[in-house]
Amino acid sequence: MVTKIRSLVDKIDTDAGHHKRSRRLQKDLLTLIATGSVPTTLRALQKKWGMKKPIAELERAIASNEFAIPKALHATQTLDWTPKQATKEFGQVLRVVREAQNLGGKLGVLIPELVLGSGNGRLPAFATELEDRLQHVEVVLEQRAVAALVLPAIEAYMVPKNKKDHFTEVGGICFGHAISCSKPTHGKGEARRTCFHVEFCTTELRARMTEDEVHPSPLSERVLDSASGVLLPHLEFLGGFHSHPYKRKKWGKSSSMAQMKGAEGWDLSEGDRKYLRREANGPTIEGKPPRLEIVVTVAEMKRLAKPGAGYRHTFPFCVGRLRVILAAYHVRSDGEARPVDRLVCHWRSLED
Ligand SMILES: [Zn+2]
Repeated sequence: MVTKIRSLVDKIDTDAGHHKRSRRLQKDLLTLIATGSVPTTLRALQKKWGMKKPIAELERAIASNEFAIPKALHATQTLDWTPKQATKEFGQVLRVVREAQNLGGKLGVLIPELVLGSGNGRLPAFATELEDRLQHVEVVLEQRAVAALVLPAIEAYMVPKNKKDHFTEVGGICFGHAISCSKPTHGKGEARRTCFHVEFCTTELRARMTEDEVHPSPLSERVLDSASGVLLPHLEFLGGFHSHPYKRKKWGKSSSMAQMKGAEGWDLSEGDRKYLRREANGPTIEGKPPRLEIVVTVAEMKRLAKPGAGYRHTFPFCVGRLRVILAAYHVRSDGEARPVDRLVCHWRSLED
């Protein structure tokens, strides 16, 4: 396999005749190894250069074993696996993975960006399946972070903004640490356990806030990111948060709790998902796409009641007569979000 890749690269070098074209075709070759599909430019030229057979063979080899090679490469690029771990999990792929990594280095190409670019910002199915299967994601919220998430959400819930908006959503960004470690899988390899430890959150004052949505301001995010680099140099940008207010006033006689439960109000809305996909493809904060999104749902209770147990990605509690549900979502590299495997809050309400 390695000799095939090398000989194809050499053939492109000799036959392309033009440095720029040769680079482009080598990039196409790398795209084939990383995604399993042949880019159109390479497909068009393969016959002309008598490369039809070797490229078809390579295509077959890449697609074999349920895309073991692209999966292994993806695991080393986005899940921080070593090529050796990838070989343990996916079979004899060590040399190909190294060869592809070298080709990427030589071309100055970031393989994850190449993969996203070839799918117009969407990950191929094998990669999403892999990320979901091999990543166990936890979010830990420090007590201060819980307060910083919930206090602005409650203020915007209780205090009218103007005559039109009796309450609004709020949003902001979260900082902390992303810690990764290995966890054995049922196979021979290892899954990645990623823990997002959220230590600090700040509300975006200039975000456009209404009863139904909050539009983050790209300029605010850039300003906050650069200033936080000075003020919080020990923390990294992890993602965003926003609130989902359920207010009796808006829903008439129907209780806001019933509305919230009926709509599973702690879930991301279609608009939220669209926004996250857009962010992943053109991050507002340069090179730092959001990796998590926290939803702070607030509803008013008719009478005092204890919160239920919730789900693995939620944390329900009460603040006076308000029911608050925190829910955490992991945002994959293609911007698709899914509930995290575990949400831990280092805080407990005295009222519960
Ligand atoms: Zn939302």
